[in-house]
Amino acid sequence: MAASVSAALGFARVSDLGVYLAPAAIVDANLLVRDVVLDNGDWNWVLLRNLLQAPAIPHILNLSAPTSHVGSDRCCWFGGKSGAFSVKSAYIQLAQDDWDIKDAKWKMLWGLHVPERIKYFLWLSFHGRILTNENRCIRHLCEDPVCSICASSDESILHVLRDCRSTATLWSSIVPRQQLREFFHLEIADWILYNLNSRCLLKGSNIPWNIFFAVLVWQIWKLRNSIVFSDVDIPNMVLLSHCRSWSYHIISTIPMPLHGPRFALPENIQWQPASSDFCTLNVDGAVALPSSMGTAGGLIRNNAGDWIVGFNKFVGISSPLQAELWSAYEGLRLAWSYDFERVQLQSDCAEAVALLSSPLLELHDLSLARAIACLLQRSWVVDFVQIRREANFVADSLAKLTTNSDGSMRIFCDPPPLCISALDRDLYDPSYVRS
Ligand SMILES: [Zn+2]
Repeated sequence: MAASVSAALGFARVSDLGVYLAPAAIVDANLLVRDVVLDNGDWNWVLLRNLLQAPAIPHILNLSAPTSHVGSDRCCWFGGKSGAFSVKSAYIQLAQDDWDIKDAKWKMLWGLHVPERIKYFLWLSFHGRILTNENRCIRHLCEDPVCSICASSDESILHVLRDCRSTATLWSSIVPRQQLREFFHLEIADWILYNLNSRCLLKGSNIPWNIFFAVLVWQIWKLRNSIVFSDVDIPNMVLLSHCRSWSYHIISTIPMPLHGPRFALPENIQWQPASSDFCTLNVDGAVALPSSMGTAGGLIRNNAGDWIVGFNKFVGISSPLQAELWSAYEGLRLAWSYDFERVQLQSDCAEAVALLSSPLLELHDLSLARAIACLLQRSWVVDFVQIRREANFVADSLAKLTTNSDGSMRIFCDPPPLCISALDRDLYDPSYVRS
């Protein structure tokens, strides 16, 4: 079946949707997508649930049912979240089969603010290219792979940088006790990434752990060479002190942002209603990980902040942007059904607000975006405003309160009890403080 469709349409590959059919389903060979859409524009869930296996349903829930209002069907690029093709997404698709996630993470770490020679040393260590005795033996540069300092083990990279007796004692004195087990059990590449990705500070200081780690590893290697080639050693305490000084110097050279101070002043955030002739529609989407199950929610208030109506809905397997768009779509349909002529839609998703405000919305590859564009063409005024996440907690909590898993919308004529405190806080102090 898939092969014949592929040949007829000229595609190199067509997924066989037959694998999603329910075992006992009998399907009319001429059944079209439009045959599973009701006259009111909703999917015919009774028919779909009879035809398809349950795992397929959340995927369809996230798709708006096709209508003639949102334009004709078109080919979309499956590799990007918006359906639009990009060279980057094509590269990711091509490379994903042999994608080395460690390499991807490593490339990000070239941005770490430490001197280039330290980055280069870490890169060599990561790829196993430091000339320890073990590696020198492999290359026939020497005959004895044993550590020249402790003579108790072969000198691997991990042995020099972490496990040699004196070095292990040094690390044990600065790594938090609860992390010691993991710290001393990781293999070399994971060990380096684990430490460079850390967001902790060195104990008793304001030095980022990843900077201190990079400096210390580099100095441990230099000390090893000093001992082996010059017979000069220094105590661990002196080495640590030296690395602290180095790290403080590195931190002091981190450039200030071009605009404003490095540490922004605390910001007081409070929800603001739209002006008097508008109602305010707050919307939000949420996607649970790792299931990718999405929910959408929102509420409409008048300019005094009084509750008018709220809603939430399960939107199936979704991306964060799609969940946000669902919340906007259902919120706007609800506002229209209440005969509002002026609506201010508030969202904390910059990407969604930019898309909704775009004049190209009606041309977007997502049919849901085009469906919203159709709504906006009606005779009303809709403004889009991006707000802080803290000013959108009520919509966020409504989205997360979704309990119906069948995709039906739940309407709240009165605020749910779990939203009361956030609603009060939107209107009265204390405001949220973002530091
Ligand atoms: Zn050793």
